[in-house]
Amino acid sequence: MSDRLQELALTLSGPESQRQTGWVAWHMDYAHPLPEGHRFPMEKYNLLPEQLLFEGTLSPSHFFQPGQLNDQVLHLAHTPEYVNELEGGSISPKAMRKTGFPWSEQLVQRERRIMQGTIQAALHAVENRIGFNIAGGTHHAFREHGEGFCLYNDLALTAFHLLQQGIVRRVLIVDLDVHQGNGTAGIMQGVSEVFTFSMHGEKNYPFRKMQSSLDLSLSDGIGDKEYLKLLDYHLNRILDDFAPDFMLYQCGVDILETDALGRMGISIAGCRERDRLVFKAAERCAIPVCASMGGGYSPQIRSIIEAHANTFRVGLDILG
Ligand SMILES: [Zn+2]
Repeated sequence: MSDRLQELALTLSGPESQRQTGWVAWHMDYAHPLPEGHRFPMEKYNLLPEQLLFEGTLSPSHFFQPGQLNDQVLHLAHTPEYVNELEGGSISPKAMRKTGFPWSEQLVQRERRIMQGTIQAALHAVENRIGFNIAGGTHHAFREHGEGFCLYNDLALTAFHLLQQGIVRRVLIVDLDVHQGNGTAGIMQGVSEVFTFSMHGEKNYPFRKMQSSLDLSLSDGIGDKEYLKLLDYHLNRILDDFAPDFMLYQCGVDILETDALGRMGISIAGCRERDRLVFKAAERCAIPVCASMGGGYSPQIRSIIEAHANTFRVGLDILG
């Protein structure tokens, strides 16, 4: 970790910063150490805030450190059995393998931090139009199991928490990661206050897709023009028909043409235009947005960071 980030971590953990003033959730534990050669690019959770601070898009005062997640909140989206097994380490090796991460106490605590990060960023967004989590978008986590690098589902937890507290009435989850938001769709079956919209690669994982409120399964190699046209049309139609008062945005950057897992053909400029469309649509309908990061597996880490940084630049420009 750089000196700049170490200083940020120190400031955020200090006694004066217990009161949340920033709107970007980050914790030094987000970048969790993984075995050598693991394909998940953990370093992005440090490189992204580093870049945003370096270029001046964000200053240290924009950040906050998520607090402790309450068990009752966790149970809004996950069964006590699953939570107990995962947290106590008695989860079966098979179930753990499905998550893609080796089990450790620190890994579980990290996931709890991330969940709380999205919840607090969303509460900030309710007041100030926009909030971000520099992690999260863990859309493959189901009510009773985790998979695809997701243990708990921050989108579902945040939606349920805001609804339960009576802070919002109707939530739209816009999931633009290249992978379908199968966990979110599964958890939200029959929940009429939440609309799940997923645009994803038809041939990408998960191979057995769940049913979202609206799924757009896109063919391999889809380019900027067609992608953006579909997004613009459907997103605005959903906003008008469903009339949500809050949006959760999963802004994964594995839609990039350079991505090692994704099969789409979206350029960095197209990905930035995607973000602009989403924030502009929210602005038009005067609804707050909380964005969580999602995936990104381009071989060059700089493509991942540039695309994620664009989401902050554009979001701040429109709603900041
Ligand atoms: Zn993904």
